[in-house]
Amino acid sequence: MDISKNLLKIKGGIADTVKLVAVSKTKPVEDIVEAYNAGQRIFGENKVQELIYKQPELPGDIQWHFIGHMQTNKVKFIAPFVSMIEAVDSLKLLREIDKQAAKNHRTINCMMQFHIAGEDTKFGLDLDEAGEILESPDFKELKNVNICGVMGMATFTDDMGQVRGEFRNLKKIFDELKSRYFSASDEFKEISMGMSGDYQIAIEEGSTMVRIGSLIFGERG
Ligand SMILES: *Cc1c(COP(=O)(O)O)cnc(C)c1O
Repeated sequence: MDISKNLLKIKGGIADTVKLVAVSKTKPVEDIVEAYNAGQRIFGENKVQELIYKQPELPGDIQWHFIGHMQTNKVKFIAPFVSMIEAVDSLKLLREIDKQAAKNHRTINCMMQFHIAGEDTKFGLDLDEAGEILESPDFKELKNVNICGVMGMATFTDDMGQVRGEFRNLKKIFDELKSRYFSASDEFKEISMGMSGDYQIAIEEGSTMVRIGSLIFGERG
């Protein structure tokens, strides 16, 4: 598997304005080093145990994105170093991230995860739930979290028309939140959508951040 070649091919095919998160879950440290040496700096992991094992083994300027479902009781393990928690889906979780960020004298970037897929197995908020969080007095008290945008996963299907519609929906959700709650914020700007099988469609529909694993590192075992 030629990781650097794969990486450069993907980067060559997308605009510089689209951020690439290299999803390294299940892959060994050596694979991450290879991508790092090819210039990649943003990596995505979805298991806390795996991330805290890998992080100290790798260069300190890597920006780690946590892309999995985050359990409240595990935030403390990644709070000292995580660059972005992409899949925030409750106020309870946001409160814990804020608390742990404060303990570490830092601000943690977060994205709100939306449920855009037809399947009910995927986590995430709907627009009303997000509104409730953003309007709650509790949320307004949080000083150490920085909401950077929205994240979502499309249905796992060959029906690219359906996938496109789901991405379009996430873009609409982003626009709605931006105008209702974040019009004055320069930070709320990211739409994290698109994986190996659908990132080109996601970019056509407005993605600013794609999360790509198998196309860079090969199929996971
Ligand atoms: C695994 C994963 C990806 C990457 O998936 P690929 O199909 O390997 O590109 C992206 N986002 C999330 C949330 C993931 O869990």
